[in-house]
Amino acid sequence: MNMIREMKCTTTANRGCDACRSNSTAGRELQFATLQADWSQGSRHKGETYRLQLCESCFFGTLGYVRQLRRSHHMFEEDYDASADVRLGLIVEDGHCDEEKT
Ligand SMILES: [Zn+2]
Repeated sequence: MNMIREMKCTTTANRGCDACRSNSTAGRELQFATLQADWSQGSRHKGETYRLQLCESCFFGTLGYVRQLRRSHHMFEEDYDASADVRLGLIVEDGHCDEEKT
């Protein structure tokens, strides 16, 4: 089992974006976002590990979907501020880290 996991991990850098299969480049380096989960005891997907790499375009498409989910879960709450969702997950901007932005 561990051998299969290692083999999959070593090939991810060469496969491109898991959604659109393109290579995401910025300058000369490949750049991908990682969507990862390792479900443990108590979850419906116990023992399953996921790791997806997404190009910039697919990452922001996924982030938009997460914003929609968040809005649908909280839109009727009195203190819900939809304008704050624009910065959902953004913890570093222009080299400055702010954990309270999440
Ligand atoms: Zn993509």
